[in-house]
Amino acid sequence: MLPFARVAIVGLGLIGSSVARAVRHAMPTVRLSGYDADPAVRDTAIRLGLVDDVADQAGAAVTDADLVVLCVPVGAIGAVAGELAADLPPDVIVTDVGSCKTEVARALAEAIPGVAVVPAHPVAGTERSGPEAGFATLFAGRWCILTPAADADPLAVARVGEFWRRLGADVEVMTPEHHDRVLAVTSHLPHLIAYSIVGTASDLEAVTESEVIKYSAGGFRDFTRIAASDPTMWRDVFLSNREAVLEMLGRFSEDLAQLQRAIRWGDGDALFDLFTRTRAIRRSIVEQGQDDAREDFGRSHDPAG
Ligand code: NAP
Repeated sequence: MLPFARVAIVGLGLIGSSVARAVRHAMPTVRLSGYDADPAVRDTAIRLGLVDDVADQAGAAVTDADLVVLCVPVGAIGAVAGELAADLPPDVIVTDVGSCKTEVARALAEAIPGVAVVPAHPVAGTERSGPEAGFATLFAGRWCILTPAADADPLAVARVGEFWRRLGADVEVMTPEHHDRVLAVTSHLPHLIAYSIVGTASDLEAVTESEVIKYSAGGFRDFTRIAASDPTMWRDVFLSNREAVLEMLGRFSEDLAQLQRAIRWGDGDALFDLFTRTRAIRRSIVEQGQDDAREDFGRSHDPAG
């Protein structure tokens, strides 16, 4: 039996439109409704046939839903939940896809007290945004982390877990605090480093006479992919997961200072040991199917292709 029959998606960008496409593919009998604050996004959703009904107001999209999936930037989740609170049917379950969970859980509890809430974070995405960027297989083989409150209804958690499994994800449950610490290292800090290094390089453009872009394949290019991620989404992530990011940033700065020292004192052994350890981490990520094992991330080097 399907975990849900009528799903409302609020926010029809990269993640919302991917959820819609994946539901269509995996659970074609599910009735889908959707809403986005941006009228242009609503028009695109109609043109692409992403959902059965596109509403003009958030409340209208959720009136008969049994699952509501909030796919808006983290900083907007509480406000959106408040906007549709009065229209939520009694037995509905509300979930979200936000990249930070502690703040979001607090905002949802405040905006819709008494409603069954099972926050989720599909650890899958790209640097693109908007409804045309989504695709049905985005969640296949990726993790979706659920962060229910300690007193959440186990049946609601199981149904949301089953929903994500049907979309192709592997499901894990943890506390919002633990989620935020783990993601601060695996996602938020790498994005901050990419934003910072690309910013530094662009400031140096004048010094290097545009050679940063010309010779970008030397490593810089891979940072630019991450640094091209959505500015609104990432501004909200850093404001929301402030504590955990600052803690990890502190540790990172210490490790960077050690590397600086190793270079200054010509300590080749320290550099070699670290680079050997990091290479092993890359190998385990590929072994666990979390990245492309092909050389240069599977980029085509055929001039024709
Ligand atoms: P996106 O492509 O920019 O889509 C977000 C959509 O939500 C936009 O169309 C936006 O409209 C709309 N929106 C903003 N505020 C709204 C509101 N108050 N009411 C209704 N719609 C509103 O972003 P996304 O990448 O899908 O991210 C959505 C969520 O997924 C975020 O919470 C993010 O943390 C999470 N997430 C993202 C990734 C990733 O890699 N991108 C991965 C996992 C989870 P406007 O055009 O007007 O802004």
